[in-house]
Amino acid sequence: MKSKNDKKNIQKTLDSLLSAQKHSKVGFAALLLLYIVVSIIARHISLKADLPPIMLSGHAIPWGTFTGALTSLANICIIMLVVFFGKPGFFTSLFILLLQFPLVLSAIIKHHAFTNIPGVFGNILIIIAIIIIYFKNTKVNEYQTRMRDQAVTDRLTGLPNRFACSELINELIRRGEKFALVHADINGFKGFNSTMGYETGNQVLIEIAQRFKNIADTGSSGTLDFAARISGDEFVLIIRGYHSKTEIAKTISKYDSALADRLTIDGCDLFITASFGYAEYPSDAKSADSLFSYADAAMNEVKRLKNSNHIMHFTPELLSIDRIIEIESKIRDALEKDTIFFYLQPQFNMSHKLRGFEALARMRDADGEMIYPSDFIPVAEKVGLIDKVDGAVFRKAANFFGELRKKTGTDIILSMNASVRHLMKNDFISEVCDILQKSGLPAEQLEIEITESIMIDSPEKAIQCIKELRSMGVKLAIDDFGTGYSSLSYLSSFPANLLKIDKSFIDKINSGTSSKQYVEGIISLGHIIGFEVISEGVEDPEQLEALNDIGCDFIQGYIWGRPMLPEDAEDLVMAELNA
Ligand code: C2E
Ligand code: MG
Ligand code: MG
Repeated sequence: MKSKNDKKNIQKTLDSLLSAQKHSKVGFAALLLLYIVVSIIARHISLKADLPPIMLSGHAIPWGTFTGALTSLANICIIMLVVFFGKPGFFTSLFILLLQFPLVLSAIIKHHAFTNIPGVFGNILIIIAIIIIYFKNTKVNEYQTRMRDQAVTDRLTGLPNRFACSELINELIRRGEKFALVHADINGFKGFNSTMGYETGNQVLIEIAQRFKNIADTGSSGTLDFAARISGDEFVLIIRGYHSKTEIAKTISKYDSALADRLTIDGCDLFITASFGYAEYPSDAKSADSLFSYADAAMNEVKRLKNSNHIMHFTPELLSIDRIIEIESKIRDALEKDTIFFYLQPQFNMSHKLRGFEALARMRDADGEMIYPSDFIPVAEKVGLIDKVDGAVFRKAANFFGELRKKTGTDIILSMNASVRHLMKNDFISEVCDILQKSGLPAEQLEIEITESIMIDSPEKAIQCIKELRSMGVKLAIDDFGTGYSSLSYLSSFPANLLKIDKSFIDKINSGTSSKQYVEGIISLGHIIGFEVISEGVEDPEQLEALNDIGCDFIQGYIWGRPMLPEDAEDLVMAELNA
């Protein structure tokens, strides 16, 4: 059912690419109305044929001239209906034209209005013209539909092709809808081709495609899936409508198991397996390019490991060398030109009062496309540039906040993300002091967000650094809480102020009582240890209500504010101050 919708979406996009004519109902109604109005006026004027002609610049113009002009205009409307509105336009026009025959004929017979006879011939000619136009148009449309189907379909297997797959991915990214992109590669496919011939290889691909298509079309996996063949023995699955990573893995297992059933071609039993790697939008990457490359990296790792588990989720450690080099050069370029910038996402208390903003790093590609942190922060960490990236965002955001404070006197908080590798650098504290001094931002208005992983890497050193920051008055937040492996004993001795509950818990907060109780547990635990608690990624009113019920202190999420340009953040602060 849903995969049909996907097809429709793809076809819509392709329609616009192939410039197929799409005209609105409003256009149809407007043309019809124009036809009716013009016809009524023409008829009205024809009844005044015995009136004296109109004098224009000394020339006598008979009323009949206007009737002719208006009748031609009405005919143009009729032709345009057929040209632009296909079947409905054709049948409406035909109906109107045929309707005129009884009226005209009865006028001729009853009232001997023989002047109408040329009009009857005119009508017949128009009917012939619209029939020719309609059938010609239908042929062109059929051709376009065939072209469109060919453009989105893989010839061998009948599955959607790479182009259709990219279109769907771009559409989902445009809509901001979460999905998993799975790259599946058939193990040892080259072997089939070389030992059994291309014909057998093709039969194998057709059979695999059929099995994938069955699962995707029937929805038997429990998620909304789309299967495509992108080249040779490479397939892509796009999975939507899941609530957890476990569900993604379960769906992929369905496809994996579908291949396990014996495949018999030309009397030979073949045993097929595939390697599946996947990456999620938006948590792993925010661009189609990165998603493809990450899913590919995970798939290659499955192949390399050659064990019984055929499915792997992407992790930044799997980034290919080429990809790292490509992104690293973009980061170096941005650092050199000082073009790394930041967005600010607001945080609110439960009564919708502004608490502050989190600064989020952004870069732009050479073609102006935005690059998101999930695409470059892991690389910056890997190649040792993270302190420079963090530093650039930190400096720019602090300067902006220092100015904002001078202008408005606002005392809201600026929250900065610091990578563990950055925080562990010996000069981290002096860098913070320097930025605070230069920007004029008081330490009390700065909050530094670190992830739980700091407690595994080097807890003693981290705690000492954090204590120093706290003694300066800087606030500390534990980011993405719940996704790492913090131990309770460290957590209780950790001198932080704020726990940020990861979005993955908020996503499923209303999926069952235990999910809500789990978040409630985290909030209570945070409160017992003396932290305030903020929930990340709150998107809908039901989540907000649930968080209100269980005593959350703050929220950050699309429901009340997306990451925005600093100018827009300033407007928000001004509006709040003037409220
Ligand atoms: P984070 O610190 O957990 O930031 C929150 C992320 O969740 C942001 O993504 C934000 O845009 C997104 N988000 C917030 N509310 C919603 C929501 O309601 N729905 C959805 N779907 N998403 C929401 P962003 O900007 O892509 O940042 C991703 C991560 O990159 C951040 O996660 C942070 O860990 C890291 N990051 C961002 N800027 C920096 C930086 O300057 N330095 C370092 N080291 N890391 C950074
Ligand atoms: Mg953060
Ligand atoms: Mg977070």
